[in-house]
Amino acid sequence: MIRFGCTVFLLCLTAAAAAAPAPDAAQALASISAAELAAPIKVLSADAFGGRAPATPGEVKSIDYLRSQFQAMGLKPGWHDSYLQPVPLTQITAEPADLAVSGGGKTMDLRYLRDQVILTEREQPLVTLKNNPMIFVGYGIDAPGYDWNDFAGVDVRGKTIVVLVNDPGYADPKLFNGKDMTYYGRWTYKYEEAARQGAAAVLIVHQDGPAGYGWGVVQNSWSGVKFTLAEPDGNMHRAAIEGWINHATALALFRQAGLDFAALEQAADKPGFRAVPMNLNLSVTLHSDIVHKLSHNVVAVLPGSSHPGEAVVYSAHWDHLGTHPELPGDHIFNGAVDDGSGDAALLALAKAFALLHPRPRRSVIFLATTSEEQGLLGAAWYVRHPLVPLARTVADINMDIMNVYGRTRDLTVIGYGKSQLEDDLAAAAKAEGMGITPDPHPETGLYYRADHFEFAKRGVPAILSFSGYDYVDRPAGWGQAAWAEYFAHHYHKPADEFDPHWDLSGLAQQVRALFRLGLGLADSDAWPDWYPGVPFKTLRDAGAAQRAQ
Ligand SMILES: [Zn+2]
Repeated sequence: MIRFGCTVFLLCLTAAAAAAPAPDAAQALASISAAELAAPIKVLSADAFGGRAPATPGEVKSIDYLRSQFQAMGLKPGWHDSYLQPVPLTQITAEPADLAVSGGGKTMDLRYLRDQVILTEREQPLVTLKNNPMIFVGYGIDAPGYDWNDFAGVDVRGKTIVVLVNDPGYADPKLFNGKDMTYYGRWTYKYEEAARQGAAAVLIVHQDGPAGYGWGVVQNSWSGVKFTLAEPDGNMHRAAIEGWINHATALALFRQAGLDFAALEQAADKPGFRAVPMNLNLSVTLHSDIVHKLSHNVVAVLPGSSHPGEAVVYSAHWDHLGTHPELPGDHIFNGAVDDGSGDAALLALAKAFALLHPRPRRSVIFLATTSEEQGLLGAAWYVRHPLVPLARTVADINMDIMNVYGRTRDLTVIGYGKSQLEDDLAAAAKAEGMGITPDPHPETGLYYRADHFEFAKRGVPAILSFSGYDYVDRPAGWGQAAWAEYFAHHYHKPADEFDPHWDLSGLAQQVRALFRLGLGLADSDAWPDWYPGVPFKTLRDAGAAQRAQ
């Protein structure tokens, strides 16, 4: 950790009181252009970068490119004297393994990729389960705050649990936060809770609606090489097997058990649901190749002129899903929009901030994370090893999948209703001709699916904006159709490629709004907070107490 502490405290206070808006802000804003934004997307999404998987030659190319860009802008290295923050990873390559489920007088073979995707996050080369009893535990949620416990009265230790994705609010608006998915709905939570309950295996039933994405996304995201942060216990605290089965497979399994999946699903939506033993037994032998690897976050900083020990963070992930040679045809996951567009935004912001004289009062950190696609690992590592302590980190402004389809009249806030950053963003967006709109699909839990969530989890106000849908000079519904097309045919697929027909004026507009947001924060003394009742607020309050000491 590097501290840019004020050496003379009194001087810092005086400088803060005298601070004025940076005179070069207009020039900095003007530097953010569609033409400038295209180049980095093109570079990073080229086939030569191989889909930017961590710890591959594609990583070397990606981080070299980002580092050289930051260096050319005159930004300081963020991690000691380097732009690269090492992130130790465990690489687990599981051999494709089928599951055998016996019971109801027969044995069903669940084929890898077709019916299920499983892996282990344990550093364990051989995992075997033999005739392991299966239990349906509804949503697999233990949430005292919502007076909900799917594990009440059942001991799942050493057993296989089958769980639904999302939370009960998906089906019943009166439960949890209604359609606005809580963290209890995320697969990461399901795995974490399975481990806390001591389950041997956890299988999430995939369904397009409540998952927020199709089976193809599960297949592409969970097959092949998998990374975790290298943990001291080798991840032995986790369930031995983690994975997904698709909806059709769930229907067949429950039929085999003489159970009605649809009826049980409905029962699981009601308070007081009790887990149901399935009278099925699961067997699996999973061989994994385990290797320790080193990946890197790329981090650059513009030290604050008067409060260098306080920082605003901009983040975007440089990694994507790599190359899957087993796929027919194009098998490079170029990740042009996801998240080449965010990286281009990060570089444009860095360049714009570097043009400011004097520099903003607080430091501005530009963080290109690794292994976001592997479960927000680079961001998780960063918040454990921040450049500026989290109590003094003003906000994280994350960029993941940016608008590439032209100018809009609106800007979407993912996870709307959480923090005062939304008010600041509303003002910044207004200056760029956009109004703020809530995420139209909060049930997909996007707020928990990108790097800013690691900051939020630790109390740092964090915001993810997404493209608006109301496109200038386009008919009503055009934006919805454009993004529906992206998510159906490009997102997490080899087809997420640079398209010369994109209109990046909308990206420039979005980035300019985020520049205004970050500059406002970097030049103020404000500590934006979570709204009352948001669970992350408790940690932020602790941070405020720390700052006051
Ligand atoms: Zn992404």
